[in-house]
Amino acid sequence: MKAASNELREKIKELSEIVYKATTILEKCKSCGTCIKFCPLNIRMFNDKGIAITVKSNKSCRGCSVCYHRCPNQAIDLKHFKNNGKTRDK
Ligand code: SF4
Ligand code: SF4
Repeated sequence: MKAASNELREKIKELSEIVYKATTILEKCKSCGTCIKFCPLNIRMFNDKGIAITVKSNKSCRGCSVCYHRCPNQAIDLKHFKNNGKTRDK
């Protein structure tokens, strides 16, 4: 029983360290601007090639998924990261 609760505690700790960040699948973006319009933190912007990306700023992406769900071209991926910045994907 104690082993099980330790395992559960470890799992909860691991999950609490995961953050989600929106990244653009560059070849799918059609530059419609929808994600830019709806991001509540205003951290989606066009790069110099006209592709919408999540910019690095003092407000970092919270992975709220608004852009992910609004994008009409499925051009946004929500990647899992550990709090230390390392991706858990792949
Ligand atoms: S909503 Fe999708 S297609 Fe439109 S600009 Fe954003 S990433 Fe590109
Ligand atoms: S996931 Fe939310 S906070 Fe992050 S870029 Fe998309 S809309 Fe903005």
